[in-house]
Amino acid sequence: MYMLDSHEIEAVGRLLSVPQNIVLVSHKNPDGDTIGATLAMMHYLRKKGHNVTALVPNDFPGYYKWIPGAGEMVIFDHNVRAVRDALAAGQSMFCLDFNSLDRTGNMATDLEKFRGEKIVIDHHLEPSNEFDHYFCSTASSSTGELVYEFIEALGDRALLGVEEALALYTCIMTDTGSFSYNCNHGRTYHIVAELIDLGIDAANVHKLVYDTYTEDRLRLLGFALSNRLLVWNDLHTAVIYLSKEDLKRFDYQVGDTEGLVNYGLSMENINLAVLLTEKDNQIRISFRSKGDFSVNRLARDFFDGGGHINASGGNSKIGMNDTIDKLKEVLLQFKEELDYTVSL
Ligand code: 5GP
Ligand code: MN
Repeated sequence: MYMLDSHEIEAVGRLLSVPQNIVLVSHKNPDGDTIGATLAMMHYLRKKGHNVTALVPNDFPGYYKWIPGAGEMVIFDHNVRAVRDALAAGQSMFCLDFNSLDRTGNMATDLEKFRGEKIVIDHHLEPSNEFDHYFCSTASSSTGELVYEFIEALGDRALLGVEEALALYTCIMTDTGSFSYNCNHGRTYHIVAELIDLGIDAANVHKLVYDTYTEDRLRLLGFALSNRLLVWNDLHTAVIYLSKEDLKRFDYQVGDTEGLVNYGLSMENINLAVLLTEKDNQIRISFRSKGDFSVNRLARDFFDGGGHINASGGNSKIGMNDTIDKLKEVLLQFKEELDYTVSL
């Protein structure tokens, strides 16, 4: 699926040739890619003379709040009125790092009513048909990489500055696990080189995102690994589960469990890692796989979610114990498919 079509670029270019009110939208439970892509677009579109408002369904981790412009994002959970006003005034809307409006949670019904042009810039599988213009490629490391290509395709490479570079570097760094997956194209590194040459300190960006744990967050990680890890060797699967009480005990803050799922996958012979966290009366699920096992299919078919082949998310409303039981039952169907060794 590759939709970086020159007609789409021409159409969106025409749209952006006249200053207008633009709303940018990040997805729910925001990650570095959606926040970085949204903020880079905000700075870029303002330079082009547009009036831009950036919207996000719920609050995002503190370790992304240093990205220039982060303080200006309007959070739906905190300020419904401001979101509705921006949407009512908006002439076009860009959705960044998601491809179906339901990925914005409670904000989705407001977005569905939006009457202007809807543009999506994204790298997930199977986009919905809710948009007017698509700038999508599943081959891209991140939405940030696509934003760079979008700006370049519009002939605006010269408008990029340090603010956009910091935001876009954050996108690529976080969505590739610091350049350990989704980044086997030279193109990604050429873009990163361009971003660094704009004057950013890449090592510093890494520190701001990854070396800013609270003590509670680090202790939660230790607790999860020692007390809440299930290893199903016959299914090549590792599961970490955290109850509401566990999270409360370590004074859980948004973003504290980010990256935790990957520890399961760091074991030899484990091909699937699952993180279950009890939040808002449901279980949030993160799936990660190495090799060919598609967690997108697992999440879509059984857990009301989706994402990428090796990284997906889902939801469950049946409580922690039942969710663990269901997971095991479902995975038994995939026992053979999960039985492989990643080799050169
Ligand atoms: P995470 O496990 O980090 O929350 O999400 C991993 C990937 O799956 C991300 O690319 C994210 O966009 C996608 N994802 C997470 N939750 C959902 C969901 O509920 N529905 C869909 N369709 N995708 C999700
Ligand atoms: Mn992404």
